[in-house]
Amino acid sequence: MNGAHPAHPSKAITDRPVAQSPLIVAVVGAGPSGIYAAEALSQQVDHDVRVAVIDRLPVPFGLVRYGVAPDHESIRSIRNTLERTLEKSGVRFYGDVTIGRDLTVEDLRSCVDAVIYAFGAASDRRLGIPGEQLIGSLAAPEFVNWYCGHPDVHPETDLSHADAVRGIGHIEVLISTSRSAVVVGAGNVALDVARVLIKTGDELDDTDMAADVLDGLHHKIITDVHFVVRRGPAYTTFTTKELRELGQLEGVEMIINPGDLDLDPSSEAVVAQDRVAARNVEVFRTWAARPPAAADTITRRIHWHFWTRPTAILGDERVSGVALESTQIDADGSVSAGGEVGEIQAQLIIRSIGYRGLPMPGVPYDDATGRVPHAEGRVIRDGGLSPAEYVTGWIKRGPTGVIGTNKSDAVETVNALLADIRDGEVVARHDPDALDRLLAARGIHALGMPAWHAIDAAEVELGHSHGRDRTTLAHRSELLSAADGCLANLNRADEPSHQPG
Ligand code: NAP
Repeated sequence: MNGAHPAHPSKAITDRPVAQSPLIVAVVGAGPSGIYAAEALSQQVDHDVRVAVIDRLPVPFGLVRYGVAPDHESIRSIRNTLERTLEKSGVRFYGDVTIGRDLTVEDLRSCVDAVIYAFGAASDRRLGIPGEQLIGSLAAPEFVNWYCGHPDVHPETDLSHADAVRGIGHIEVLISTSRSAVVVGAGNVALDVARVLIKTGDELDDTDMAADVLDGLHHKIITDVHFVVRRGPAYTTFTTKELRELGQLEGVEMIINPGDLDLDPSSEAVVAQDRVAARNVEVFRTWAARPPAAADTITRRIHWHFWTRPTAILGDERVSGVALESTQIDADGSVSAGGEVGEIQAQLIIRSIGYRGLPMPGVPYDDATGRVPHAEGRVIRDGGLSPAEYVTGWIKRGPTGVIGTNKSDAVETVNALLADIRDGEVVARHDPDALDRLLAARGIHALGMPAWHAIDAAEVELGHSHGRDRTTLAHRSELLSAADGCLANLNRADEPSHQPG
């Protein structure tokens, strides 16, 4: 939606300290890590700081909206706290502005006093085995984005059924033609993915899923989900409460090889040191000890294949199965191959083996780790600490931890920035309106909190019309159209110092 880029505006006012001016900090990414950084900056009282939280999407909240599973409403309600931070005086949200496309990092740094990168780790990791490109082989982030209603995987034009089966991302078609699905990995994302795959459409009706997502899930025919886990139950990284939740689904049987619950010495050592591991093993033992349910009460099954990993995804055009090998743990803790153990017939395979950060043009990036190199949140550029450049969240520490982990991470980064302000290394040099002026000069119309409130109201209204609390708008055009009233107002305002949105 953003226009062509005219010449760079004058930098005359941006190069000298501005007397008694607030310090302007841009945060790139309006997910939990970016908003927690804004919160930490707004809570300190030693310095007059204004924060511009910028996101490429029209809406804020990042993984809280597009990662936390829609049937985990209590975790998603963190959004209310994040929203309050974006409403604070001194904090402004700039949605629908892509750094690296609408503005370069250099452009941005030329009109603010410091930048904090918080753009997350949106990509996926690959297994590196034959068949990963087949139709029906997906990365977990793609599936998660789909069920959360992310505009990136909800294109504007609908593909024909034939196109979809040929392969361009119609998850609705895949799940309506798959009886058996494989999920590779044993982390919380794998758990979310498996739960959404095995729940009935009715069990997901009270979520805020987009209408076409929910419709797709109602047409799903999956009866069997297979977890393929390269180590044993003691090494799973599931949150125990959420693992238990999977075992409480009505009509779903857990199929576990009891032999996998006889722990080897390495697993015993893990369980002795790690309470979560011990609790997870206990949950698996409870499931394995359940008396068999009456056959007519079981409609779906979850199969646990520990100590196995896929060697190939089978099929010609569409996935038809997965070949597995057994694994073992070596003295150094690494996983090595045993022998072939057979195949699982499946039409869908979702690899849930971790997210990976992508580079942002103009920002230092370590390809080996998929992160921005840093020291306690200070960005390292060309081998040295880069003045006034900071990083937080998954793009800083990697894709680990729960939402709350981002809070302490952001505090570390903001403390580094505050120390640099105290030391005089970061000073207020820029006019508080410089960013707005640059955006206006480029014809870029940021969406602010009024736009979010309009989208929020439209989603709630749509939900009510379906007898639900909310229905997510998944298409970018729907989001922009819901924000339209605010946009129209914005387009009429040529003043550079307007509130976005
Ligand atoms: P994760 O916890 O790191 O799990 C990744 C899984 O993939 C592990 O089981 C790992 O096994 C396996 N794996 C990695 N490479 C593999 C390979 N080449 N072949 C086979 N298996 C492989 O990551 P995640 O599930 O993506 O979650 C990311 C973060 O988000 C985590 O910190 C998670 O807790 C958090 N999260 C939290 C929630 C929640 O609290 N509700 C929900 C979603 C996500 P090994 O252990 O053997 O390496």
